[in-house]
Amino acid sequence: MGGNGKHASQGGIMKVLFCSSEVVPFAKTGGLADVAGTLPPELANLGVEIKVVLPYYKSIETKKFKIKKIDKDTAVAVIQNNVEVYFIENKKYFDRASLYQYNGVDYRDNLERFTYYCQQTLKLAKKIKFKPDIIHCNDWQSALIPIYLKTIYKKDVFYKKTKTVFTIHNLGYQGLFPKEDLALTGLSDAVFSIDGLEFYGRINLLKGGLLFSDKITTVSATYAEEIQTPQFGCGLEGVLQKRKSDLSGILNGINCQDWDPKKNKALTKNYGPDDIEGKYNNKTNLQKICKLKVNNRIPLLGIITRLADQKGLDILAEVIDKIVQMPIQFVLLGTGDPKYHKLFESIKDKYKNTAIYLSFDPKLAYKIYAGSDMFLMPSYYEPCGLGQLISLNFGTIPIVRKTGGLADTVVDYDPFSKKGNGFVFDNYQSGALLETIKRALCVYHDAEEWKRLVRGAMKCNFSWEASASEYYTLYKKTIGSKK
Ligand code: ADP
Repeated sequence: MGGNGKHASQGGIMKVLFCSSEVVPFAKTGGLADVAGTLPPELANLGVEIKVVLPYYKSIETKKFKIKKIDKDTAVAVIQNNVEVYFIENKKYFDRASLYQYNGVDYRDNLERFTYYCQQTLKLAKKIKFKPDIIHCNDWQSALIPIYLKTIYKKDVFYKKTKTVFTIHNLGYQGLFPKEDLALTGLSDAVFSIDGLEFYGRINLLKGGLLFSDKITTVSATYAEEIQTPQFGCGLEGVLQKRKSDLSGILNGINCQDWDPKKNKALTKNYGPDDIEGKYNNKTNLQKICKLKVNNRIPLLGIITRLADQKGLDILAEVIDKIVQMPIQFVLLGTGDPKYHKLFESIKDKYKNTAIYLSFDPKLAYKIYAGSDMFLMPSYYEPCGLGQLISLNFGTIPIVRKTGGLADTVVDYDPFSKKGNGFVFDNYQSGALLETIKRALCVYHDAEEWKRLVRGAMKCNFSWEASASEYYTLYKKTIGSKK
């Protein structure tokens, strides 16, 4: 690919500005961070010149990541494949205890905070003379960027050829704000219409992102279909149907470095599909950490999740007593909705065969992925889901509901054909969840068959390579490049 300062559609190197409000390893609350930290280096591998932009939150460890200031309000660090990550600094907005909310309540000035982030991002590209062919935005926090480009920046020469791709990681979070706050964004009242940002009398940033961007993606093919229906469209199904021809699903991958049981340093013993005995060493370790009875033959069910309704915790709550009364062990790592904190605290007090950690703890997460036999994801909806992909990598068999990315990656085990890599249920009902767990436990007691399942799971390949080349193809299509 020749550079020569040419636009990518004329054969120059493709330039992409990737905007995300969280990026691994700097700041993370969920799967978006994993995507934003992994996809850009993969795209760089394909020859794309890509730079990432995120807010400079107080929690980001400057020294550890060798982040260097470039001026008063910007800093930069370099991640894999020489990808530069830029940090937008503003003490008033980003020097906070957490990213979006405190004690379960959203920060009141989130519109101002992310308006600042979007406006500064557009200024930053000019400042560093990085004229992007594509600005790839993610979720509501960066949704103002495509809106600005088609309004305030419409005649801006620098961005004349820039196209936008907008990825929905979760339609359930839309960035809703009172209409009186529109002036804070610098946008004119004209955008506050039914064909713009207006949504039942409020500002909806995600809706704006969907309407103003050139292409829309979401993180699995099934979710791309589901969100066009009233059941999963969260009120935006009409908008998504309207933009159907520009909407596609590209499955997330996982960072195989971090999530490889052969290399992961947090494990007590590394293992792989040809040597699964090491997994049981990690199970013993997990049982010790969790103060559970050390016994390799007791099936251990793990769950690592945001404690939110979306994750199927209401149906889990209905049958949790029945589950933990079975001869199993149960380990949960999660944080979120106070009502679920209360529920799992009470489970911890009642049952000795459970271990409950109500915190966000990536190191413990590794140990749970490696040490569990089964991993629960009974989600009501799941745009892609990383938990099931990670657990498959660790030979931990997922038990999931058939929705979104779970439907696209987990195949129900069939005892006759012996095909499948997990256990899947369809109806969003606690009874169906319980039956599926029982079905998995039956197979578990056939030790040889279970080992075969574990080995097979570990051979599934969900690396980023394939997804990155799909994004690259989409970028080329978006800018009209034939190369
Ligand atoms: P979502 O983005 O909806 O939260 P995903 O399954 O796409 O769900 O991604 C969740 C990611 O966050 C996974 O990498 C999972 O391991 C991690 N995670 C979730 N909760 C915790 C927690 N309490 N501690 C550590 N990691 C967590």
